[in-house]
Amino acid sequence: MATGRYCREDILDGAIKCKHCGSQLDGSGSPFSQSPPAGAMIQPGTSPQSADLMVLLSPCCITGLAQILLGQVGKGLMYFALAILCAIATAGLGNIFVCIVAAIDGYKIAEKLNRGQAVGAWEFF
Ligand SMILES: [Zn+2]
Repeated sequence: MATGRYCREDILDGAIKCKHCGSQLDGSGSPFSQSPPAGAMIQPGTSPQSADLMVLLSPCCITGLAQILLGQVGKGLMYFALAILCAIATAGLGNIFVCIVAAIDGYKIAEKLNRGQAVGAWEFF
């Protein structure tokens, strides 16, 4: 008879998860310490992270570049596509707004990484 990692209640043999406390019984760790899948988070120290540099790298022509350099590739491409769509839809005026948002966003994300904080691949500001 097995027992739960936290509750010490008896559990039937062959069970993979305790019905009392939810702990895993196959030795893969507790439900409280499971880390997100690899690639979901961007760890500090993997990309150029100068916050000042990020703002300089986000002029209107390459909106999203800061995000791509920070490791948030999907988000950077979204900003890039958004900037193009806005430019077409508003004859260039909306592009300025997207550019400013992307610059501030890139600056904030870079600041977090500089503080040693991990950020999500789609984390904003
Ligand atoms: Zn248990």
